[in-house]
Amino acid sequence: MRALLFAANWKMHIGPQEARTYLSTFLGQYSERPDRQVWFFPPAVSLEAVATIVAKRPDLLAGAQDIYWEPKGAYTGAISGPLAAQAGARATLIGHSERRHVFGETYEQTGKKLAAAVRAGLHPVLCVGETLAQRDAGETLTVVTRQLEAAFGARVEVQATVAYEPVWAIGTGRNATPQDAALVHQAIRGWLNDRQAVETRILYGGSVNVKNASQLLAERELDGVLVGGASLDPKIWAELVRTAAT
Ligand code: PEP
Repeated sequence: MRALLFAANWKMHIGPQEARTYLSTFLGQYSERPDRQVWFFPPAVSLEAVATIVAKRPDLLAGAQDIYWEPKGAYTGAISGPLAAQAGARATLIGHSERRHVFGETYEQTGKKLAAAVRAGLHPVLCVGETLAQRDAGETLTVVTRQLEAAFGARVEVQATVAYEPVWAIGTGRNATPQDAALVHQAIRGWLNDRQAVETRILYGGSVNVKNASQLLAERELDGVLVGGASLDPKIWAELVRTAAT
């Protein structure tokens, strides 16, 4: 059976109390299904609230949106892998485009963060993707390959997930076609296979919503979706997870 992963990136939305209310609505509208998993990436302050609730359901999981690579120390404002794990995280996003483009995270830093996630026992969800200028210049595959190389380095034995998220599609309402996404997914899979990496899921992200999710997931190269905006309302998110690709 094809098992799909639906990952919700709440970005800087939904505090702990709102998260409890959100999950009560979501759980009321979405029952476990054997062919799908749902992962939530709340802001750090809501991580423990989400992790405590989703721990009751094996098909659900909570993760951090970002971690710093040092395990502890004088790094004001940062959270480490071990701290996120202590709050109940079992995964973490790495190199989300907003981390790269708003906070200036470098390719080298994504490598340190991926290694730190593995050390802390967190499943890394590595986000890669090109800007519009890079796409127009025909550099998509070069950029994505460089991002994979920088983050994984020689660590291809790591159990990870890759999310292909073209920067021009995130939060813009403009999504890649299933065929656009499939070409990049094939290149990512080829890169991983060439290095004998372990079985790795590849998600698509960028303006996925209730209307386009099924069409995107009809493309067999997609193992799931990473969703920002359309995951913020629990009813809409439950509908998306329930109805996509059924
Ligand atoms: C994201 O935050 O990873 C994302 C894909 O956002 P959106 O679905 O809003 O484009």
